[in-house]
Amino acid sequence: MATDLADMTPLADCSQCNYRETLLPSGACKPSDCCVVEDNGRQIDRFFRANLGLAADYRQDGFLERRAIAARYLVLDRESQKQTKSGEKPGPN
Ligand SMILES: [Zn+2]
Repeated sequence: MATDLADMTPLADCSQCNYRETLLPSGACKPSDCCVVEDNGRQIDRFFRANLGLAADYRQDGFLERRAIAARYLVLDRESQKQTKSGEKPGPN
C-alpha cells in the first residue's frame, strides 16, 4: 500500500488528552496552544473558548485554575442557551 500523506500528519504529544481522538484531529485541541490537559491558564482558556459545551465536564476538576476557567465559561454557555430559548437578542451593552 502506498503511504497516505494524511496518515503522516504529525500530532503533537497529547497522550494524556481525552480529546486526542476527537478534537485533536479537527484542530479544536492543539497541544501547547489550546489544550485542556495542560496546567496552563491561557491554554485552558483557549480550549474552553473553542469548546464551550465541554466546560461542564470540568466543574469538579482537581486543578483550581481549570475549574475556575470552566466555571466562567459555564456562565457564558448558560447565558447563550437562555438567549436561544427566549428567542430574543440582548440589547447592545
Ligand atoms: Zn489536548
